[in-house]
Amino acid sequence: MISPFRTGIVPVLTYHSQNIAGNDYASNDQHALASDIQTIIDSGMRVLNLSDLVDWITGKRPARFARNGIILTCDDAPKFDYEGVVYRDFGLQTSFRSIIQRHDAHITCFAIASPKARAEIGEDALGDAELMTDAWWPDADKARWASIENHGWDHCHPAVSEPVGDSRSFLGVADYATCRQQVQLAADSIAAVTGRRPTLFAYPFGESSAYLRNSYLPDFENEHGMQAAVSTDAGYATRDSNRWNIPRFICGRDWHSPDGFRAILDHAKRSW
Ligand SMILES: [Zn+2]
Repeated sequence: MISPFRTGIVPVLTYHSQNIAGNDYASNDQHALASDIQTIIDSGMRVLNLSDLVDWITGKRPARFARNGIILTCDDAPKFDYEGVVYRDFGLQTSFRSIIQRHDAHITCFAIASPKARAEIGEDALGDAELMTDAWWPDADKARWASIENHGWDHCHPAVSEPVGDSRSFLGVADYATCRQQVQLAADSIAAVTGRRPTLFAYPFGESSAYLRNSYLPDFENEHGMQAAVSTDAGYATRDSNRWNIPRFICGRDWHSPDGFRAILDHAKRSW
């Protein structure tokens, strides 16, 4: 007999709108997302909000709630998420917003809090600090298509000149004071921009120290206010997932083509 508590599995997908090295599926996450959303709809699956998935994992939603669900997320919150930009030699790039809104779907955007860190990352990685502006966050967070959530204070990105706690990786974010800056104060700072405090965290580069994951996040929930954290371990979310380490598939790393994407979806669909 099948246990009444057994439920299906849910893919949480991650895109980077700044992944623009060409203008086709394999070289450009905007093209991949546009194709993938159509595949999701054609396959009879549904886009759910990450916050609702967390409610499902914590038992606040019925077991069948996440049936045939998939979750869309994107990291770093560059301007490509929000509006069309002419970029380098690749011409006008459409925005994640236009793709998501066309299908009345939803995506969770994980944003970097520190304005200084964002400017340095934008300059270094994208050639323009303005591409990491927070000017669009309030509009996006109030709209149906997006939520602006927490991707840390400074991402421990190599371009950042003065990383918190002098750590060059989130593996080194491993004491209370550094975690507080990277999680709680980052959330405060994002809230000051959007008008709503984030409740979801994405580990930068998918990395987390054991202290952050197993002690700080679960033990100081009343202080930082996060309800869950996502990693980049390739795998499906389940009702039994650790809500402080929910796995995610990454476009370009875990799938590279419409066929590869369909395989991830089909496996999830068969589980229900
Ligand atoms: Zn990131």
